[in-house]
This record gives sequence, structure tokens and C-alpha cells, in this order.
Amino acid sequence: MSRYRGSVCRQCRRENMKLFLKGDRCFSDKCSFDRKGYPPGQHGQRRTKNSDYGIQLREKQKVRRIYGISEKQFRIIFKRADRKKGITGTNLLSLLESRLDNVVFRLGFTSSRSQGRHFVKHNHFTVNGLKVNIPSYVIKSGDVVEVREKSRNIQAITDSLDTIVRRGVPQWLELDKDGFKGVVKAIPAREDVTLPIQEQLIVELYSK
Ligand code: SF4
Repeated sequence: MSRYRGSVCRQCRRENMKLFLKGDRCFSDKCSFDRKGYPPGQHGQRRTKNSDYGIQLREKQKVRRIYGISEKQFRIIFKRADRKKGITGTNLLSLLESRLDNVVFRLGFTSSRSQGRHFVKHNHFTVNGLKVNIPSYVIKSGDVVEVREKSRNIQAITDSLDTIVRRGVPQWLELDKDGFKGVVKAIPAREDVTLPIQEQLIVELYSK
């Protein structure tokens, strides 16, 4: 499936929650979900009852949209999570959080995950001193993620760093704001994912 190119705000309305896909706009009064908190489309305001399958499907779509991942990539990550030791749902969330595009967002270098993906692809970051331009790159404990010297005056990066106090840096990361770098202190655990996600529904969906 190709990448979704429509309005991302429709995705929040479809999932019936704010997915915070548009950076600062999500915290302003321009947020579409705050203004029209019902599903998009002609029949959006109709009452509907979801089947078990529908509930599982929506949960999977919600997580996929939060992290901006295609169905194909999501299935690959799920299979990897399933092969790992431990609880599949927890492994899945941990793998999603560990992606480089998410890490640069969580460190405050970008205002959204999609901007993180864009900036990673454009070679603005290094991991342990080496250029990495693969958004799906999975970071490990102890890795150092840094904004490259030549990219430190990019307005979007400095603006985003200015909002980090409001957004907060998760415990598993440590930010050196002046040094434009962050250290991965640990692999993210289940409690580090604060979004309201019921990952067992995704496991049930893919186990059918
Ligand atoms: Fe979702 Fe609101 Fe952000 Fe649009 S502005 S992506 S509706 S949270």
C-alpha cells in the first residue's frame, strides 16, 4: 500500500482521538479534532456499532497512523516482535518507539514523527557519529543521536527544541539541548509508551 497523502487531520477524526500528527498545530485552536470531533465523511455523525474485528482493526490503524507506517512495514515489524522473546504486544510497541524517526521526534529535534522521517532521510542526523538516513533504523541502548553540525541552524530544528519543555523528554532518553544530541539510556519499555494503546487487540487481529 502506498503512503497516505490525504489530510492527516481526517485520520485523528477517524480514530476518534488526537494523534498529534501536525506538530504545533495540534496544540493550537486550529486543531480539526477539537473543532469537529466526529468521524469524517457524509455519514460521520451517524452512530455505528463496531464488531470485535472492527475494534481490533481500528486499534491497528490507530497505531500505524501514530507512527506513520505503511501496512506492509507494520506487518514486518509485527513479525519481528512476534519472533522476539517476551510479550508480542510489548515488543511491538518497543520496536516502534525505537525507530530513529520516532527517537528524533521524542528528543525534540522535530515537531512530528513525519518531520522526523523527512529530516532523517535528508541526512540531518548521526548515530554514534555515523550518518544514518534510514527512518526505520532501530536504535539500541547506549546509542548517541546527534544533529549534524551543518544542520544545527535549521529553523525547524531550533524551533522544535524550544518546545521540548512543554512536550517533555521520556525517561529512556537523555537530551543535551545545547549539544544538539541525545543518549538512549534504555530500550523503551511498555510504561514508556504513554499513548492510550491496547496492543493486545492488534495481536488478536494478526493472530486470526
Ligand atoms: Fe490531529 Fe489536531 Fe494534530 Fe490535526 S491538528 S493532526 S486533528 S491533533
